Amino acid sequence: MKVVVTRKIPGPAVDLLQQQGYEVVAFPENRVQTTEELKKFVVGADAILSLLTDKIDGPVMDAAGKQLKIIANYAVGFDNIDLEAAKKRNLMVTNTPGVLTETVAEHTFSLMLSIAHRISEADRFSRAGSYHAWGPELLLGTDVSGKTLGVVGLGRIGSLVAHHAARGFGMKILYTDPKPNPEFEKEYGAVFVEKLDDMLPQCDFVSIHVPLLDSTRHLINETRLNLMKKTAYLINTSRGPIVDEKALASALAENRIGGAALDVYEFEPEITPELKKLDNVILTPHIASATRETRDKMAEMAAQNIIDALEGKTPPNLVK
Ligand code: NAD
Repeated sequence: MKVVVTRKIPGPAVDLLQQQGYEVVAFPENRVQTTEELKKFVVGADAILSLLTDKIDGPVMDAAGKQLKIIANYAVGFDNIDLEAAKKRNLMVTNTPGVLTETVAEHTFSLMLSIAHRISEADRFSRAGSYHAWGPELLLGTDVSGKTLGVVGLGRIGSLVAHHAARGFGMKILYTDPKPNPEFEKEYGAVFVEKLDDMLPQCDFVSIHVPLLDSTRHLINETRLNLMKKTAYLINTSRGPIVDEKALASALAENRIGGAALDVYEFEPEITPELKKLDNVILTPHIASATRETRDKMAEMAAQNIIDALEGKTPPNLVK
């Protein structure tokens, strides 16, 4: 059996796969392969361990050959894989849910606290030598405690962010999701708001945790940004195209909302240039799951999905 790993990844995946006696070919460089490179790289693979930066479409699947059985994505999101094309070819697709939930929720909360307390801006200010005296109005931010958080997508990550917000900061939780969660509402006093448009005007912070689907692309657009309070903050650690980035840059530049903190971008790795000029936005480079522990667990999970698939079992994290 041949397993290809599309990029150098941390953690035990390669060792685990080799211990099974598989031929493991790992791309030796720490960069994204071009589509043409990828098509050559996957030839003869029984399994592809892919990253969210790899576009795995029908032509890439066909380039691998008819023996291909599984595409194991090293991410919980799988919008980089053409699921229809995989289904047509009878291929299994897996992801790495759960193991990164705590880390992404922590990163989300770091962004929320940092934008509210103007941490990045204050750091730039201090490094620039601008701090000459304590001042009662120096870099005034806003409290997170006691404010209202709107969670868009109350899944694994969204609900843990809401838990931290409610338990740690006494925040009021509103949420929107196709599936209401009465148990969660009881536990946290959270309120389900069926329509996003009805939730947005009520929130001091809005945090997005939905997958990228046709139905969630540009879920946050100019109209919806205009529904937010002028003082509200938008946090996005889900996927970039869920927010219309141009509309967001305009809303921030014109102070139509208070600020934003983003880990993901519509045209990743490009970032809309206007955003980089603004002080009321924090930009991190898609690192919400980037801790040593979590990346190791993701690698192990992706490898286990491949091992089960190649042993003829159903892998535990099959994407439905
Ligand atoms: P999940 O499947 O547990 O949760 C997603 C939730 O969104 C579900 O409850 C679903 O019902 C809900 N949802 C779907 N469409 C919706 C809509 N239109 N409006 C409101 N809610 C909707 O997934 P998760 O593990 O919590 O991960 C969420 C997303 O976070 C992933 O799909 C991934 O794209 C992203 N993510 C990003 C990073 C990063 O590095 N920045 C890391 C991990 C995950």
